Amino acid sequence: MDKVTDNMIKDNSGKMPGRDRNSVEDKRQREKETVSQMIALYCRKKHGTKKQLCPDCLALEVYARNRSDRCPFMETKTFCSNCKVHCYKPEMREKIREVMRFSGPRMLFVHPVMAIRHVIESKREKRRMEKKS
Ligand code: SF4
Ligand SMILES: [Zn+2]
Repeated sequence: MDKVTDNMIKDNSGKMPGRDRNSVEDKRQREKETVSQMIALYCRKKHGTKKQLCPDCLALEVYARNRSDRCPFMETKTFCSNCKVHCYKPEMREKIREVMRFSGPRMLFVHPVMAIRHVIESKREKRRMEKKS
């Protein structure tokens, strides 16, 4: 790559800002997709729904996706359960925890790729937290 092009796409830290921004947005999309799948699975099994969520689960999905859209830690975080701030209001926090408890272990069978990625990211986060302490 010639120097001019190189300087155009890198910032002073040597990172490629465009690419970083994309990966944060990709991560945000992945998180939103995972949360939707987990709520859908929960609603199917617990509330007997088929194609559409029940009103309560729909409200939870909209709320959770909205939180992801506004999350200031997207670049570094893995899961909301590890978050020190926890931006969910208590009622929604309780609901999403219930969904995670139920759907987390079942995701391996329903959406294996998503579930495996989840495990890899958890391990990465755990290592990072161990390094910090
Ligand atoms: S709980 Fe924390 S990590 Fe999750 S969306 Fe809110 S601020 Fe972000
Ligand atoms: Zn439901």
